[in-house]
Amino acid sequence: MEWAEYEKKLREFGYKDEAITKIKPVFEFASNAHKDEKRFSGEPYIVHPIATSLKIAALRLDSDTISAALLHDIVENQNIKIEELKKKFGEDIAFLVEGVTKVDKVRYHGIERTVESLRKMFLALASDIRVVIIKLMDRVHNMETLEHVRTEKQKRIALETLELYAPLADRLGIWEIKAQLEDLAFPYIYPEEYKWLKNQIKERKDVGEQYLSKLKPIIAAELEKEGILNAKIVYRAKHMFSIWKKLLKNEMNFDRIFDLVSMRVIVGSVEDCYKALGILHKTWKPMPGRIKDYIALPKPNGYRSLHTTVFGPGKKHIDFQIRTVEMDNEAENGIAAHWFYEVEGKKKAIKKLDDKKFLWVRQLQDWQAEYAGSSAPETLTALKIDFFKDRIFALTPKGDVIDLPDGATPIDFAYHVHSEIGDKMSGAKVNEKIVPFSHRLKLGDTVEILTQKNKKPTADWLDFAKTSIAKNRIRAFLRKAGGGSAGKISDKKLNDSLEAAITVKDRVGVLRDISTVFSNLDINIVGTKSGPLSRDHHRIIVSFEHKKGVPNTKLLGSIRQIKNVEAVVITEAK
Ligand code: MN
Repeated sequence: MEWAEYEKKLREFGYKDEAITKIKPVFEFASNAHKDEKRFSGEPYIVHPIATSLKIAALRLDSDTISAALLHDIVENQNIKIEELKKKFGEDIAFLVEGVTKVDKVRYHGIERTVESLRKMFLALASDIRVVIIKLMDRVHNMETLEHVRTEKQKRIALETLELYAPLADRLGIWEIKAQLEDLAFPYIYPEEYKWLKNQIKERKDVGEQYLSKLKPIIAAELEKEGILNAKIVYRAKHMFSIWKKLLKNEMNFDRIFDLVSMRVIVGSVEDCYKALGILHKTWKPMPGRIKDYIALPKPNGYRSLHTTVFGPGKKHIDFQIRTVEMDNEAENGIAAHWFYEVEGKKKAIKKLDDKKFLWVRQLQDWQAEYAGSSAPETLTALKIDFFKDRIFALTPKGDVIDLPDGATPIDFAYHVHSEIGDKMSGAKVNEKIVPFSHRLKLGDTVEILTQKNKKPTADWLDFAKTSIAKNRIRAFLRKAGGGSAGKISDKKLNDSLEAAITVKDRVGVLRDISTVFSNLDINIVGTKSGPLSRDHHRIIVSFEHKKGVPNTKLLGSIRQIKNVEAVVITEAK
């Protein structure tokens, strides 16, 4: 694409001279740098950064983000240094490109146990939400062109999209992107199911759409009669992957899911939302239990709308979402909806976090409290992601993420991978260089632990270990070594590890409460994993070291008392 055409597109999105003058030299630099490079499809490589940056322009982000999107693959593919970008285009753009380059390290390898750490690591490395948005749009375009990639790679990329990128989009409240990513990944991960579903819904969707298209003028007329003029009425198909997930929960029974196609009524004010709801209910009978007021009580992630299901003509169920233009924009674009700066012509600093609009920031804080277990920082700048700053996420050579506290050393790393690796550690390499045992790990380090059969922990290791898991294991080993031949038996006892399978109804902070119970009883948690059971239930598995003197009944009782815990089973770990 030539500059003239690109400029035209930017102007269509509302960008003015000031932004355009800044973006032009970046566009030319990127086009030139990638000029000899091709994509798998055979197209010139620059097509990809251009497409990514235009997706960002569609969200109306600032010119720095658009520029960084144009440059996002330049460091990796063309070996251009961040320093050079800094000199040419300034600190801010260089900082964003550097962020994108850093998160490129984060790869999902299909290990469910570590996926949450992977998401956290991604955010910590990105260090700015605009970096996350560039990566999301980069991924959308890569998914749109995934057919050109080798088959073996397709599935890995699609799985990573589903496990890593779609949940990040969800947490940032960019549901439109989340839906796109899921639907793009779906056919690569479940090809048979996708084909089946596509056939199943084709007809139903067409029938539904025809029905709603006939209904649209009727609704408009009813609203106008009561003085709501210019309401925007749209019907849209639910995205495929969400229908699929719904079907899985409803024994694959289409009759039990109402909303293959739903109707959205967008009006001018909150008052008109309630008025429209009344008009719809006067016209058709509402279905009991399906009326939801997310305007008075927004969802935790900030979503606002009124929902209802009515018995329309022919006793058919129709799902309605009623919202204002602003609510609609927020639901579609999430945090990006708050960043109109270039278009508005002035930079809008986002400072006041108590503003209702920044519910998403609180959502991220809650998420942090839930998963990182530490208390949320009192102040947080809107763009900076600094809530994982006390954690080090380091990688095994295979790419698994090990989540450690700040100050951790290779000894901690080794014991967190496996106690036997810790016990036999003879040395460590960080980013392929040999380091001493006392070396402080940094975010994103790749750590390889070297082991030797006859190696044993020594007392000085305790000075280097930062985590209680490592310290306890070293102490246990030293005790055992002092205890002579009885060592083998006590070691076996020590290895007795148990698992608590806990069913919880989702609540922010529940994981933290569970880990508090363990730490109050002074029981070592070896690991946790969790997976969804249904829309609002999770199963959390906590593996822990069996502790003499603490009967399981005591542990069970304490866990059961936690709010929203519905069942607990303790078994021996496999
Ligand atoms: Mn890219």
